[in-house]
Amino acid sequence: MRRVVWTVLCVLVLVGAVAPPAVASGLWPLAGPVVRGYDPPEVRWGAGHRGVDLAGEPGDAVVAPASGVVSFAGEVAGRPVVVVDHGTERTTLEPVVAVVPIGARVAAGEAVGRLEPGHQPCPTAACLHWGLRHGEAYRDPLSLVTATYRLLPEAAAAQVRERAAAREAALAASSPLGPAGNGRLTPPTVGRLGSRFGMRLHPIFNEWRMHNGIDLSAACGTPLYAAADAVVSHMGYDSSGGWRLVLSHGSVDGVNLQTVYLHAEGYRVRAGDRLARGQLVGTMGSTGWSTGCHLHFGVKADGRHVDPLGWLS
Ligand SMILES: [Zn+2]
Ligand SMILES: [Zn+2]
Repeated sequence: MRRVVWTVLCVLVLVGAVAPPAVASGLWPLAGPVVRGYDPPEVRWGAGHRGVDLAGEPGDAVVAPASGVVSFAGEVAGRPVVVVDHGTERTTLEPVVAVVPIGARVAAGEAVGRLEPGHQPCPTAACLHWGLRHGEAYRDPLSLVTATYRLLPEAAAAQVRERAAAREAALAASSPLGPAGNGRLTPPTVGRLGSRFGMRLHPIFNEWRMHNGIDLSAACGTPLYAAADAVVSHMGYDSSGGWRLVLSHGSVDGVNLQTVYLHAEGYRVRAGDRLARGQLVGTMGSTGWSTGCHLHFGVKADGRHVDPLGWLS
């Protein structure tokens, strides 16, 4: 009898461990990049990182990643914390000062608080620690935001693969960078065109994700250039993009144009520098979430990622 009880208990534990998240897909509580990943301790009382950290600025609005009820808003060990209960799972957000009372029903994307500084280590002025719990167990909060891609049905995945193959074939028949775009930007480096803009199977996470730029591969140390006259609006390091550079090109063809460079070995320019088209800005590397030396080059038009090939010459 005892053995049967144990077997049933073990099965229940196993089922609990592999159950999909109760919230099928969620939103990012803060727009900033992930600067520290989920690293749960092997034992309950061990050291680790029971959530993920997103970079931001003090005062940034923090939103509910999924709909729920605010079950806690107050201080825990001197840090302001907001907890949103989604049913079987709950999100903890800290250091966050609540802008909604305990008991408030919130929709996904609705502001629940304001980010405070204090969570360390943090490369910006303030980082959000985002935790997710299922009962007493911790989970990776990114499982909320990546669930939509993980659950992409095979038929849809096959369609994406087909479209990618067709585009690949069309591009292979033309110049190395594909059909010329509108020519407002000059190539930021030399290199082989790898991943293009669009949905792709992520090389590290093995999940379907949006690739919001193009990858150009060459040897580490290959020079990187400004794709047009620009002012450096950001230069810094984060764990996903590695050494990241954002150039603002002002208004081009009626849109506010920016270019984004990721994974460099390093840059020789700083925020606020004025650059001329073709000016050396740094060298190619493999920093951040990268599997080899390449430049990830992104283009943002009015703040939205667009296909860089449409803007290159
Ligand atoms: Zn943290
Ligand atoms: Zn890339």
